[in-house]
Amino acid sequence: MGMSVRVRFAPSPTGMLHVGALRDALFKSLFARHWGGQNILRIEDTDRTRYSPESEQEFIDTLKWVGIEFDEGPHIGGPNAPYRQSERKEAGIYAEWIVVLLGKGHAYKAFDTPEQLEEMREIQMINKRPSGYFGGIWRDGSPEQVAAAEAEGKPFVIRQRIPRDTAIVIEDAIRGRVEWDSNTVDDPVLIKADGMPTYHFASMVDDHVMEITHIIRGEEWLSSAPKHACLFDSFGWDRPIFVHCPVIVGTDGKKLSKRHGATRVLDYAARGFLKQALKNFIALIGWSPGDDREAMTEQELIEAFDIKGIQPSPGKFDYEKLKWLNGCAIRALDPEQLLQEIADYLARPYTTEYFEQLEPEPGSPNPKDVLRTLLLLRTTIETDRAYALEAIKLEQQRVQTLADFGEACEFFFVDLPPMDQKAVDKWFKDPVTASLFAYLLEECSSAYLSESGPEVYDASLRAFQAAYGLEKLGPVVHPTRVALTGKTTGPGLFELMSVLGPARIAARVERAKGLLK
Ligand code: GLU
Repeated sequence: MGMSVRVRFAPSPTGMLHVGALRDALFKSLFARHWGGQNILRIEDTDRTRYSPESEQEFIDTLKWVGIEFDEGPHIGGPNAPYRQSERKEAGIYAEWIVVLLGKGHAYKAFDTPEQLEEMREIQMINKRPSGYFGGIWRDGSPEQVAAAEAEGKPFVIRQRIPRDTAIVIEDAIRGRVEWDSNTVDDPVLIKADGMPTYHFASMVDDHVMEITHIIRGEEWLSSAPKHACLFDSFGWDRPIFVHCPVIVGTDGKKLSKRHGATRVLDYAARGFLKQALKNFIALIGWSPGDDREAMTEQELIEAFDIKGIQPSPGKFDYEKLKWLNGCAIRALDPEQLLQEIADYLARPYTTEYFEQLEPEPGSPNPKDVLRTLLLLRTTIETDRAYALEAIKLEQQRVQTLADFGEACEFFFVDLPPMDQKAVDKWFKDPVTASLFAYLLEECSSAYLSESGPEVYDASLRAFQAAYGLEKLGPVVHPTRVALTGKTTGPGLFELMSVLGPARIAARVERAKGLLK
């Protein structure tokens, strides 16, 4: 590619930043990095009734959390500043270009009243005609008519004059040739009665002025593409390359919604997904590196990213795959780094807010328990970082999200862990258990166990097994695990014993003794 690639992420901040928008932003960022081009952030806030400053803040926070960077944008400036369309409007940029378009005859003033437009819609509905503005008096109004209406001070909008009786064709980089009968494309408003540009106009003018080479965006914009292409043609500008990415669906093939898991990107941060795993996962929705690689680093994604790898068919959002990738990313971290990730995760206010307002769901741990255990983890990291690190190291092999560390590590951090009654009933009834607990207490009081590694606990429990002539180690390890953790599952017993150390072990075995039948 000879020219320098320039792409833009151009959100209209009217709500939360959803997974679809993140994919859009990520594809552009990977594409720009792949070609050593520029990635531009532009805020499309011309629809003042829907624009929300909180939403813009959410976009900025989310992009920052996920680590998508821009070369130009409202937060960093750049040669095309300002990057917020309301400010560009104030600077007179759109007014200047609409005069050019009017002069070329590719736009016209339309003075229809709301009642007239309503009537037009009704007639179109009754006659089952496509709805939209295809003409009326003003498209072909005489200069005198227009001058008279203007002299009367009638409010007007400026519409795009779509050519009639012809084909509008684009070469989409993913879909190939797409063709529209121009008679089915209505004349969109470019400038509203209050002088504000619409999305169609502001976005395309900016794409030209900012020298955008590729308009990469979601498929929902494909139906606007003929208007956009015509606008470029009418100005006599070179068209950018259109790249319409497939929609995202759930594993059931239905459009992605709340049912498939959260769609707000910040919720993934709150649930303990690592940004690298989320990016890896999102990049693979509708795009493939061309081989069967799945777990990829950011650098690998940048190197492999290519528009040819984007599929025209809907991209599947598979939450199970995301969890799997996140588990891989957690295991790929050095334990110190992981501890820092967890500390940062717990320090973000939205993490606690999220679990505070989350409704309990069947099949998932209760949000209140998750929150309680996460706060315990946070306190332990603050008060006994070394101990927290040892606990985290053992659970690193088992969890899928950072949130999982709360419940997984809980037994390490409480004085006495809550006991699973079923486990107690099952494992505390063998007569040998009383001797086992007495033996463990004895062992813990001897100096050799402090500072000991897993192999010493291994040897100690095997010595008990041999002394009592037990055929299997099960009757030794299971009651011991239940006594120490309250549960039947968890990390390796000898490893966790070595992390707990003799004092904690003794306190827990003492308590377990009291529960013997
Ligand atoms: N502002 C539009 C949006 O919110 C941008 C669409 C486009 O990329 O052309 O998605």
